[in-house]
Amino acid sequence: MKKIISIGILILLNSSLSFAAQTIVNAVRIRTNSENTRLVFDTSRLPEHKIFQLKNPARLIIDFDNAKLARKLSLPKNPQGIIKNIRTAPRNKQGLRVVFDLKKNIKPKSFVLKATKKSGPRLVVDLPNGLKRKVAVVKTSKRKIKPFIVAVDAGHGGKDPGAHGRHGTLEKVVVFQIAQKLTNLINKQANMKAFMVRKGDYFISLSARSQIARRKNADLFISIHADAFTSPKASGASVFTLSRRGASSEAAKWLANNENAADLIGGVKLNDKDDILASVLLDLSQSASQNISQMVAKEVLENFGKIGKLHSKTVQKAGFRVLKSPDVPSILVETAYISNPEEERRLKSSRYQYKIAKAIHKGVLSYAKKHTIAFNTTIKETSHRIASGDTLSAIALKYGVSLKELKKVNMIAKNNTIKIGQLLIIPL
Ligand SMILES: [Zn+2]
Repeated sequence: MKKIISIGILILLNSSLSFAAQTIVNAVRIRTNSENTRLVFDTSRLPEHKIFQLKNPARLIIDFDNAKLARKLSLPKNPQGIIKNIRTAPRNKQGLRVVFDLKKNIKPKSFVLKATKKSGPRLVVDLPNGLKRKVAVVKTSKRKIKPFIVAVDAGHGGKDPGAHGRHGTLEKVVVFQIAQKLTNLINKQANMKAFMVRKGDYFISLSARSQIARRKNADLFISIHADAFTSPKASGASVFTLSRRGASSEAAKWLANNENAADLIGGVKLNDKDDILASVLLDLSQSASQNISQMVAKEVLENFGKIGKLHSKTVQKAGFRVLKSPDVPSILVETAYISNPEEERRLKSSRYQYKIAKAIHKGVLSYAKKHTIAFNTTIKETSHRIASGDTLSAIALKYGVSLKELKKVNMIAKNNTIKIGQLLIIPL
């Protein structure tokens, strides 16, 4: 009974199509991009068809009326996107059913294309991958860039006065004033933030200083000191980084011993076990931050050379405990010799303190400019789909990026060719 009815319908259908020839499905082409999987059926004529979905498991069914396959359809070897498998079967004697096993349920979109000079008739089915589209509009003011955080550490403090000059100037006092000036300078800089590790005249152990820096996610640790030596003639600035293999000179070793003695003055006995653990950590992760420390130290030293005499023209290495932070690049600046009467006088001068702060600040900045990637800023990007009327320079302006960078990340050649619908990466 059922058979008779369906035959009847078929006859009616066929008669309405004036007994058109059978549709031959020649091939299916599958293309995937980040948003869609596109199926293109190449057919002999515009196909009469029906598309629907079945759940559990997710399937997409395409029923072609009065159609047959020219050859077996097959999936590409590494199907991407949403399709898992493809099956075909004849249907109702004259029809053809194509089943796509999908990874999940989606809403398909389809349309047919008439034959052109270049290609035959086609049925196009778009299957969205279900991935959220990136929103192209990002307000420049909302660009989230993690600021470069600098921990400014004024040496000594409280019961530990540090070195002192012949005229009674205390290291802990002058370095605190320099640290304040440096912090203010950095805080005026866009995308940079500085904080004082020691906020007043009190004692902090050396290990606590680096812990504070780490807790506040510092990208750089700058410890500020004023040098002292047995001879009043010693003068000039030096910049130090941590040495794993021992001090680079005898004087550096002597200095390191004196600066490290601060913890004993404060009555805090450092645990030897911590040192063993620290050295393991250092081996694991310090090489990267060591490189950064070395680069910053070089830049700072260079800027010191512009304002006065250098005690040593190269970056010194010493085993300062305060620099033993495995993950935070750290430098120690001996700004001048407080034991030298002329330098003691200058260290007290607010103008000279500002000069010193400025030299350190400039050094940090030129490092930042040269090594932006090492800067630890989260590099974010978004995308922009080219619409009619878009120009590269307008897009660069819209997102506040340079035209040069926009072209570079999108590998756009000199002729500035962009196409409508093209997806551009916008580096933020
Ligand atoms: Zn010191």
